[in-house]
Amino acid sequence: MKIILLGPPGAGKGTQAKKLISEFQVPQISTGDMLRQAVRDGTPLGQKAGPIMQAGQLVPDQLVIDLFEDRISKPDAGRGFILDGFPRTAIQAQKLDQLLESRKQSLDAVVSIDVPEEALVARMAGRRSCPKDGSVYHVTQSPPKKAGVCDHCSTPLIQRDDDKEDRIRERLRVYSQQTAPLKDYYRERGLLREIPGVGAPDAILTEIKRAVVDP
Ligand code: AMP
Repeated sequence: MKIILLGPPGAGKGTQAKKLISEFQVPQISTGDMLRQAVRDGTPLGQKAGPIMQAGQLVPDQLVIDLFEDRISKPDAGRGFILDGFPRTAIQAQKLDQLLESRKQSLDAVVSIDVPEEALVARMAGRRSCPKDGSVYHVTQSPPKKAGVCDHCSTPLIQRDDDKEDRIRERLRVYSQQTAPLKDYYRERGLLREIPGVGAPDAILTEIKRAVVDP
């Protein structure tokens, strides 16, 4: 199964990707997670990408494409993948088409998870994560058992720099300008499935599965 999850930051792409990987037994490929790891590791890529990510801007296409190409060449991605946060620009979408064509692969579906802007801001501003194991919480919607610390490893939770409200607004602006036009790109190819991303995560998962398996 080869699926792209499209949708603004905070739409729940990461949450749904994690559910879909166990459904379909394919890896999640999240360029955002890979870039955050590079920042934590202090690699040359991380040093370049860090300030750009903090500002809520997109990392230059070529850096992300190189990172993605490397990841999709790993054996576990041979059977399929759930793409979360890639592609984000027309150039990345075209590069993905070329990469898949050269591997004689094609996409099964592009799922756009749609959520109104104010709901996105509320979701992201309340998001907290564990810097150690990556677990994600929300201060009101899915709080940890003990306020401020990870349920699994008791590490103090943090708020991502790019989840501060001014950065969130900037990321949403960047999304509507550079990434939302990809909906037309995939609609023209008959691949786009639009799913409302409001409600219980498992109900949204059911809708996604239905749209992917039985469009
Ligand atoms: P995410 O966790 O997917 O929201 O990504 C966090 C940040 O990483 C984004 O705001 C961008 O700065 C950067 N990023 C992730 N994926 C991409 C991509 N495909 N192209 C450019 N920048 C990206």
